Amino acid sequence: MQIDLPIATVAFIGGYCVRLFRSRRQGRPAAGADRAAPEPGLAPEPFRWPGDVIEPLPCPMLLIDRQGALIHANLAVREMFGDAVPALLRHPVLDDTLSRIEGVEIVTATVRMDVPVARVVRVSIRALPNFGPDLLVLALADHSQQEAVERMRADFIANASHELRTPLASLIGFIDTLLGPAADDWQAQRRFLAIMQAQAARMRRLIDNLMSLSRIQLMEHERPRARVELAPVIATVTDGFEPLVAGRQVALRLDMPASLPPVRGDGDQIAQVLQNLLDNALKYASREIVVSARPVQGGAWPAAPGVVLSVRDDGPGIAEHHLPRLTERFYRVEDGQAGRAGSGLGLAIVKHIVGRHAGRLLVESIPGQGSLFSVWLPAALS
Ligand code: ADP
Repeated sequence: MQIDLPIATVAFIGGYCVRLFRSRRQGRPAAGADRAAPEPGLAPEPFRWPGDVIEPLPCPMLLIDRQGALIHANLAVREMFGDAVPALLRHPVLDDTLSRIEGVEIVTATVRMDVPVARVVRVSIRALPNFGPDLLVLALADHSQQEAVERMRADFIANASHELRTPLASLIGFIDTLLGPAADDWQAQRRFLAIMQAQAARMRRLIDNLMSLSRIQLMEHERPRARVELAPVIATVTDGFEPLVAGRQVALRLDMPASLPPVRGDGDQIAQVLQNLLDNALKYASREIVVSARPVQGGAWPAAPGVVLSVRDDGPGIAEHHLPRLTERFYRVEDGQAGRAGSGLGLAIVKHIVGRHAGRLLVESIPGQGSLFSVWLPAALS
């Protein structure tokens, strides 16, 4: 069961204040009245104004009047919402909600704010009639991040379905043609089957990438602990690229010292990073790809000792405005060139693997000259 903390807190505060108020009127100690008498030397709990009660609570809370004028903002509000409180109190949704409050029922509202920054705030409100006919207590919960995550998840499902639907529609179309008009045309059949093979391969690549991404995200909070020697990892991946590189008449050059310090990580995932960067370099390079690895002691970038693994190509490069978005899932810079189609997931996978390693990814590119993707991995210190 999920407990809505702000609502529970408003109910608690409301009840607490009312109990305090009643006990004060009846001349009884505020709390523990029906428990054992206080020990000698312990003073009964003094009566407190609700502003004092909400002040130290960790939940952001406000006291206001029915016209929306602020009476007290507790420490958590001041820390978490800062200068957003006036905009919140002026918001038409809050205004409308306040006008509907009757009795001591808790009323909730979702306020979407554009200023001073975009935010979604869930507000739970309760009247405190025993303290004054106009007094209201509000508990605030910032739902901005939760909404952003939900939007991202919905976008992700929509994008993944769209990416799968395109090759699937093409496959269905060709199957219909093969069963119908092309049933006796063996030349057309061969041509269509080759296209179908490529579309099926594209679907398989996309599904493999989606599964890979979700596996990495599942374990993202666990830092990999193994000591990884990079030289054999680099050799295995680049060996696998030899035939592909030869087929495209591109030279693949390695630039690394005779020995490298070990890094802390997961060898298979580091191989996947290099594989994805090389997949891209191979699509774009015109003559040469350089894979390099160099030990670093830490400085401006990266800040700590480790190894920087990089892949450079002399392809068309990437315009600067695309750089910050390259690691978003499904983000692609369409250039209309055949043979460069991809899933748009390769760099998202790289980003998540690097994140899991507490490493860094740096993308540099000069349009017309090429691109350089560098990954810093932390040194294995023990
Ligand atoms: P894809 O599967 O489409 O390659 P990525 O996430 O690996 O997906 O890359 C995202 C986009 O970044 C690519 O579609 C391409 O536009 C751009 N990109 C990646 N690497 C390079 C590169 N070496 N040179 C030029 N553009 C690149």
